[in-house]
Amino acid sequence: MEIQKIEHIGIAVKDLNKSIKFYEDVLGLKCYKIEEVKNQKVKTAFFKVGNTKIELLESTDNEGPIGKFIEKRGEGLHHIAFGVYDLKLSLAELSDKNIKLIDDKPQEGADNLDIAFINPKAANGVLTELCEAKK
Ligand code: ZN
Repeated sequence: MEIQKIEHIGIAVKDLNKSIKFYEDVLGLKCYKIEEVKNQKVKTAFFKVGNTKIELLESTDNEGPIGKFIEKRGEGLHHIAFGVYDLKLSLAELSDKNIKLIDDKPQEGADNLDIAFINPKAANGVLTELCEAKK
C-alpha cells in the first residue's frame, strides 16, 4: 500500500454550526464545504489546513456511527484518514494480511472521496479511514 498523505482528521461534534464557529472565529480557518453523507448518517463540514483537512461530523441519526460514538464517548477525535492511490488494491492487500476491516469495499464518502474504514481493533484503537479521490 502506498499512502500519499494524511487526507483529513475526523472530529465528532454535537452541533456542526457551533463547531464551525470555533474553527472560523477562533482558529481562523474557513469552512469550504458542508455536505450530508446519507449512507454514513452524518453532516460534515470541511476546512483546509495546508495539505490536509479537518472534517467535522455531526450525526443525523442517533443510531448512526457518529450518534453512537458521541453517546458512548462524547465529542472528540473520531478518525484519521490516509489518502491512498488505489483504494481497492489497498483493501485487497489488507485482507491478504488478515487485517480486520469495517468496509471491505469502497463506500461513498464526503468531499468527492471513496472511503473505507479499518477496524480500530486492528489499528491500536484508532479508527482508520483510507480514501481515494474520485476520478
Ligand atoms: Zn473521514
